[in-house]
Amino acid sequence: MSNQKGSAYKEKVVLIGGGHAHVKLLYLMRQKGGYEEYEVTLVSKSHWQYYSGMVGGFLEGLYQEDELRFDLIELCKMSKVTFLEAEVSMIQPNESMILFSDGKSLNFDILSIDIGSEVNGLELESVREYANQIKPFHEIMRFRGELLKQTTFDDPIIFAGAGPASIELALSLKQLLAHHNLPFKLTIVNGQTPAQKGHPGKLTRKIDVILKREGIHSIMGNRVHAVKESRASLKDGTELAFRFLLWATGPKSSEVIKSSGFQTDEKGYLLVNEYLQAVNHPRIFGAGDCIGFGKNQLIKKAGVYAVREADYLYHNIKATLNNKEQKAYRPQKQYLSIISTGGRKGLLQLRGIVMEGKLCWRLKNYIDTRFMRRMKR
Ligand SMILES: Cc1cc2nc3c(=O)[nH]c(=O)nc-3n(C[C@H](O)[C@H](O)[C@H](O)COP(=O)(O)OP(=O)(O)OC[C@H]3O[C@@H](n4cnc5c(N)ncnc54)[C@H](O)[C@@H]3O)c2cc1C
Repeated sequence: MSNQKGSAYKEKVVLIGGGHAHVKLLYLMRQKGGYEEYEVTLVSKSHWQYYSGMVGGFLEGLYQEDELRFDLIELCKMSKVTFLEAEVSMIQPNESMILFSDGKSLNFDILSIDIGSEVNGLELESVREYANQIKPFHEIMRFRGELLKQTTFDDPIIFAGAGPASIELALSLKQLLAHHNLPFKLTIVNGQTPAQKGHPGKLTRKIDVILKREGIHSIMGNRVHAVKESRASLKDGTELAFRFLLWATGPKSSEVIKSSGFQTDEKGYLLVNEYLQAVNHPRIFGAGDCIGFGKNQLIKKAGVYAVREADYLYHNIKATLNNKEQKAYRPQKQYLSIISTGGRKGLLQLRGIVMEGKLCWRLKNYIDTRFMRRMKR
């Protein structure tokens, strides 16, 4: 390719984060081609990338670790992309420069950011010290190992947060404990009632029924306010003893986005336009949990969006490099959501339909395992 930097120069495309969107982008690069003339590098904190849709199933014991993770080194090799295991601490958009936590740096011509989100509330005193984190996902693998070493525990396992992830993990955990004949007491605590969270009534009622059926206690409208060793204080002053506290309080924007001086949405996520370009930086793209489209287009932080956005990244990065027309991304308004409710059952939600059963789990298992197989090809 010839450009002002000379005919031998290969433009540098850097992808930060091996998230769901970039895993699919790597797949598209090797299946469809079109990136051979660029120097493409993927930078990620770890070469292991876990597929969130199967984490609950792993916790329960339905999948082996290798079934739900990608080795980014392998995926990059297949896609002829250089892999760099490193943690990005800041991006300097005006200098086209990436800074790493080990003091090194890397420049780019085109950048794509897919670093996911962090978990809310970890900054609360002692949370990092005494709570088990659910992200990065290898923390769940560690927690599972730790849990299975226990022979008995009197105090409950508490989940802070009652989003779909928390509910799925609690239900999966119940199955695991029951399977290992470990007596269990599980409690979910959430600051907002499901109605305040905006969940449709039908779904909320169904989740309520399932939690009761499975013997999981829920405390709604009362958040964990402070954490000490083995004790959580709730906002209304209630003290709860715990054996394990799982911190699953929902997503928040990564510090990298905040510290890099990008224009953000009101929650601190990288503000992008319909082409997934950062506002004011047309050579910087974003996808997945780390982006926001602004007030008029609020979308949930879900892997299904990240995966869909990859198709637009694939097209629009190439189009930018070749001065071609970009494709506008319109997030789907509805998507099929199935969470695992344990014991190979699933809870399906699509448009007005809410249903639970083995068939729903089989459909979820089919979709998830097919995705993993495809992305590894
Ligand atoms: C328990 C659980 C279950 C879920 N189940 C579902 C589900 O069934 N369906 C669904 O649609 N969504 C689900 N979600 C939400 C889903 O996980 C996220 O929406 C999805 O992971 C977002 O993907 P992403 O591409 O934005 O980034 P992620 O997949 O989160 O990946 C981010 C990547 O960036 C890397 N990274 C982060 N920071 C840096 C840095 N500073 N430097 C370098 N690399 C960095 C990380 O190592 C990682 O590789 C679930 C979430 C949880 C917590």
